Amino acid sequence: MKFKKDYDLVCVGGGIMSATLALISKLLKPDLNILIVERLDKVAKESSAAWNNAGTGHSALCELNYCPEDENGNVVITKAIEICKQFEVTKGFWSYLSEKGYLKHPADFIKPVPHHSWVTGEKNTNYLEKRYHAFKKHYMFDTIEFTKEISKMKEWFPLIMHDRTSDEIMAASRIERGTEVNYGALTEILFDILDKEFNTPVHCNIEVLDVDPTPDIDWTVELKDRITKKKYQLESEHVFIGAGGGSLLLLQKVEIEEKEGYGGFPISGEWLVCKNEAIIKQHHAKVYSKAGIGDPPMSTPHLDTRFINGKRELLFGPFAGFSPKFLKEGSNFDLAKSIKFDNIPAMFGAFWHNLPLTSYLVKQVSMSHEDRMDALRKFVKDAKSEDWEILVAGQRVQIIKRDEFEGGKLQFGTEVVSSKDGSITCLLGASPGASTATHVMLEVVEKAFPELIHSEKGKQLMKKIVPLWNTAITKELFLEQLEKSKKALQL
Ligand SMILES: Cc1cc2nc3c(=O)[nH]c(=O)nc-3n(C[C@H](O)[C@H](O)[C@H](O)COP(=O)(O)OP(=O)(O)OC[C@H]3O[C@@H](n4cnc5c(N)ncnc54)[C@H](O)[C@@H]3O)c2cc1C
Repeated sequence: MKFKKDYDLVCVGGGIMSATLALISKLLKPDLNILIVERLDKVAKESSAAWNNAGTGHSALCELNYCPEDENGNVVITKAIEICKQFEVTKGFWSYLSEKGYLKHPADFIKPVPHHSWVTGEKNTNYLEKRYHAFKKHYMFDTIEFTKEISKMKEWFPLIMHDRTSDEIMAASRIERGTEVNYGALTEILFDILDKEFNTPVHCNIEVLDVDPTPDIDWTVELKDRITKKKYQLESEHVFIGAGGGSLLLLQKVEIEEKEGYGGFPISGEWLVCKNEAIIKQHHAKVYSKAGIGDPPMSTPHLDTRFINGKRELLFGPFAGFSPKFLKEGSNFDLAKSIKFDNIPAMFGAFWHNLPLTSYLVKQVSMSHEDRMDALRKFVKDAKSEDWEILVAGQRVQIIKRDEFEGGKLQFGTEVVSSKDGSITCLLGASPGASTATHVMLEVVEKAFPELIHSEKGKQLMKKIVPLWNTAITKELFLEQLEKSKKALQL
């Protein structure tokens, strides 16, 4: 038998979230007994894989959905500040790992790529200018540049500006310190550190089938070896369900009242990926525009430089697809299996109040290659169909939650669901995603191991590991940490 009988923590899933949680927990208490299991033959094959997400270090430098306008037409940047902070918390952790020598070559997973917002038409141009002024006043964003000049935009992103004439109304902003992250490579590196430095390897081809409470507040975890078909049972004091899209189905099997009312709706993503080296070389930027009216936030179109397997790439999207699977390598029955007596009202309410989303999905699913190319041509006017091919990205399972007024609500963020005592935790949802892994996993550590993280020793250690976490952030502290991570991560 390759497993012990008892563990302090079982992490379900070999993605960025489990990797981050297990490593922070080990740093806090090296003798914690942690088991990590992954149902596939390798880690980081689902959402955390490089091609399955956009690789944006989401820090609100370019994503306009974090800066809505209020009823008086003012651009509100509160959400942007929060997202920016969460990414810097995450970067702080990576910097610590680099400074300690655990993370040897940061360029293997993170690279500086400037973040731009780009809009067309007078209304959007006015909006972007107002956002620029709001950003300029805040120390997190005051390095922002703004222009309405075609010539300046030509310098910033020449591929998009090719063949543009001065009568086209458009504007753009740029923040130099944006990042491009290969979350797949990072996940592999974090698991490698866990294996080599903390004797905590990931067990692949092992699927968690069920998690049940035992009378003495531990959890019994039922596992299946997908190769030998052998089943195992073991006990753990804590369980983290970090199964990505698979988390909801597993949570529904756990006997805790906190799971009630949750449902999920899967939306798959697709990219147009450029095959022409000459075109790829013409773009070095992440350029985010505005989502269509009524379209969901994750539909925001963007043209992104990527670095994957040592090669520079170019992708455009996302396009939404529909599949009833909750994981890319999941089952066609996932959605049907997730509908339970307790979440029917929430599912129905969310569906009824999101009819525009349904019509968006129907339109997206019925797009041909040429329709997608036409969407790309709003960015790259002379894009040729033969230079681009479609690639299927990861599955996002959007959270559906009970709502007093509407029966159910569709939520686009992430949420940690846990038992009252924090002994079992589960992460639902997928946005802003991997960028906030450290921030979200610290929420899990607080619930699961409050005695570790809030002890005097824990607090001292956390100050070193993630200096921006749980503290009042001042301009001086923020800028100091920004400089530190720039150096540590070679940005
Ligand atoms: C189209 C798209 C674009 C995105 N773009 C970005 C972006 O630009 N920036 C960003 O920060 N985030 C982005 N994200 C979100 C980001 O990819 C995810 O939030 C993140 O990868 C989730 O990591 P995870 O560890 O929770 O899940 P995953 O990486 O999916 O890992 C979960 C693992 O659990 C395993 N598993 C499932 N069930 C079981 C079981 N029962 N037993 C054992 N193992 C199991 C799965 O096989 C999988 O390997 C994007 C996502 C998508 C889909």
